Amino acid sequence: MNDSVSMPARPADIPSVDRLLNHATMQPLLDRYGRAPTTTALRQMLDALRAEAVAGTLPRHALGDAALHDALAARLARAHQPRLRAVFNLTGTVLHTNLGRALLPDAAVQAVMRAMTAPANLEFDLASGGRGDRDDLIDDLLRELTGAEAATVVNNNAAAVLLMLNTLAPRREVIVSRGELVEIGGAFRVPDIMQRAGVRLVEVGTTNRTHPHDYANAIGARTALLMKVHCSNYEITGFTRSVDVAEVVHLARPHGIPVVVDLGSGTLCDMTRWGLPRETTVRETIEAGADLVTFSGDKLLGGPQAGLIVGRADLIAKIKKNPLKRALRVGKLTLAALEPVLRLYRDPDTLAQALPTLRLLTRPAAEIADMAQRLMPPIAAALGDAWQVQVVPMVSQIGSGAMPGGQLPSCGLAIGVRNAGKRGIGRRLQQLEAALRALPRPVIGRINEQALWLDLRCLEAPDEADFVAQWPRLAEAARP
Ligand SMILES: *Cc1c(COP(=O)(O)O)cnc(C)c1O
Repeated sequence: MNDSVSMPARPADIPSVDRLLNHATMQPLLDRYGRAPTTTALRQMLDALRAEAVAGTLPRHALGDAALHDALAARLARAHQPRLRAVFNLTGTVLHTNLGRALLPDAAVQAVMRAMTAPANLEFDLASGGRGDRDDLIDDLLRELTGAEAATVVNNNAAAVLLMLNTLAPRREVIVSRGELVEIGGAFRVPDIMQRAGVRLVEVGTTNRTHPHDYANAIGARTALLMKVHCSNYEITGFTRSVDVAEVVHLARPHGIPVVVDLGSGTLCDMTRWGLPRETTVRETIEAGADLVTFSGDKLLGGPQAGLIVGRADLIAKIKKNPLKRALRVGKLTLAALEPVLRLYRDPDTLAQALPTLRLLTRPAAEIADMAQRLMPPIAAALGDAWQVQVVPMVSQIGSGAMPGGQLPSCGLAIGVRNAGKRGIGRRLQQLEAALRALPRPVIGRINEQALWLDLRCLEAPDEADFVAQWPRLAEAARP
């Protein structure tokens, strides 16, 4: 008896799909996941077991009824887990591109829900009953909030820049300062986008200094645009000179050449009123004379992924006629989310509470520190003696290339390793990081100064209980 138990299973011992499916314990799985998906998963599982049996490495106990049921349940649960999942962003970067940037306010969530589940007047003019233009849904608001004559919206800011250049400067020259040839997260580089837009980049000035005469000397018969690009993710400091939008406009006007500005993050109101670093607003850029301004919907603006273009009505009209506009247009869900977000900007007094991005950016460090003090004991208890959990002051970042120099005092937990050599520490921290990523709602932190840092700025009160509740599941993974 004992002998046969310790013998590896043979391929002939593998039960049939039918026998297993008819087993009473399978019914809950069939009810939950459906017959076809359950059968498919079962087949795949038995194939894998058969391969092991052929290799002589399949232990007999793996074929017990309970073992087979549990393995199938786990396989089905894995397969049905959504790939796009909610995580806890404890990286300290509020607008984290890899974690989806801005979170939408409630009003936007409701509007998206309605747009998903009921027909809507996306391109239908309710006044005349005729065909409408989807840009009209946000055109009024954007004009009001920026002072621009007209507006349009596309899939993201990269698309906005591409479309703008391709419309206004095909096969002609666009003058840009060498200090502004920015790369955003690897995939967006100003020179590459210009090439794809079919325009010729004319670089002027140097990395650290560009003067008005650099622009003036480069203007010629083939110049279509002068372009300014926001240095989103870097700062040039020291011996520097750049030419501001008003000066560039002053140089361009006599030649009748439009000035376009890629503002990147693009804010619609002065952030200093909430103690945040100063950023030029879209309105100020328009007032400085820019003919067109492009900016993102999901960076500081705090809305859905989108690229907004505002400015001169004749230029916007030209952009809308470009066939690329049709290829880059936004869907109804984006417009549904964007409209209520823009509407919130009408009342700056309530903005910091209503708009999640701004709420997170303005969260007081003292409040975050209180939370850290509250969370430290249960997390230390869940991790056990091998780890040391400390409350540590931290500095959050805005992210997404907004205000690279702007830093936000914050607080969080630093989890260090007790009793390990230098090499052991790194390995243990990586284990802990991986275990946190494997939780039902993955926790994303960062390793810093020989500890795992969890900046609590983006953990808001409503999520606190769920956050704490998952830590006991780590006990296994946290053991040395
Ligand atoms: C972020 C950024 C972009 C790209 O915007 P997306 O909305 O991510 O496409 C382009 N230009 C600048 C200056 C930026 O900061």
